[in-house]
Amino acid sequence: MAFKTFPLRLLESRHVTPSILHLVFTRDDGTEFTYQAGQFINIHFQNDGKLIHRSYSIANSPGDDYLEIAMSPVEGGRATRLLSALSAGDVIEASGPYGRFVLKDEEPTRYVLVATGTGVTPYRSMLPLLEERIARGFTADVLLGTWRREEALYAEDFLALADQQPGFTFHACYSRELPDDLAGHECQGYVQARMQQLELDPARDIVYLCGNPDMVDQAMAWLKELGFPVARIRREKYLFAR
Ligand SMILES: Cc1cc2nc3c(=O)[nH]c(=O)nc-3n(C[C@H](O)[C@H](O)[C@H](O)COP(=O)(O)OP(=O)(O)OC[C@H]3O[C@@H](n4cnc5c(N)ncnc54)[C@H](O)[C@@H]3O)c2cc1C
Repeated sequence: MAFKTFPLRLLESRHVTPSILHLVFTRDDGTEFTYQAGQFINIHFQNDGKLIHRSYSIANSPGDDYLEIAMSPVEGGRATRLLSALSAGDVIEASGPYGRFVLKDEEPTRYVLVATGTGVTPYRSMLPLLEERIARGFTADVLLGTWRREEALYAEDFLALADQQPGFTFHACYSRELPDDLAGHECQGYVQARMQQLELDPARDIVYLCGNPDMVDQAMAWLKELGFPVARIRREKYLFAR
């Protein structure tokens, strides 16, 4: 095995939206798990006699003594089956952390953090760091695209920061079902359309894109047309495993 795995013991799992499962683990080998907000882990498991892995973004912030992920179920999916069937106390193997989808050291800027579905998970992990940066003159917009209000993952956490911090704005975009009592942060349509209303500036803004690969590709193409240098666009595609 080229990578080193470690055991994760499930503390609890619960539905945080009608479809999305939120799982809380603790590292079971007594070693501290260190990572940067925005990174992901791989979980490793046997399937038909073969060892396979799947990636999940870490949903909580560094410094906690537990590790949270959010899993959106895929019909017939192998990791979906494994994670849905776990009970408190069960142990799985994981490796990581991985990824460069993190906030870098940079001069104050506007972060535009765009996601579909569970792609918003890394931004939840970044919340304390974003708060720190906003105090230093940054601003941040989180844009979450989902098909209806009930599936807006961790919306309450983003709204809580938006309530306290004028420099932080949360937008929830619903592609299929629009509630009658639309709140100020909610809108109809795709998250890409909302992004186009933000008067993005290639010289000032840094855009993060996470989740559905089609959304990431479309948004990337549009940002390039706007004149965004690649260095000001950061991407994490939730590609399907083969
Ligand atoms: C860097 C990274 C981070 C990720 N983070 C998360 C995360 O935080 N939360 C999360 O839920 N997922 C995340 N994913 C996706 C995740 O790794 C799995 O691909 C997903 O959970 C499906 O795995 P599975 O084993 O259940 O399905 P599989 O057994 O791999 O797939 C079963 C069938 O469904 C199809 N399929 C797989 N995924 C999808 C899909 N999304 N839509 C439609 N059809 C599909 C497959 O082609 C296959 O035919 C991430 C992926 C990457 C690359």
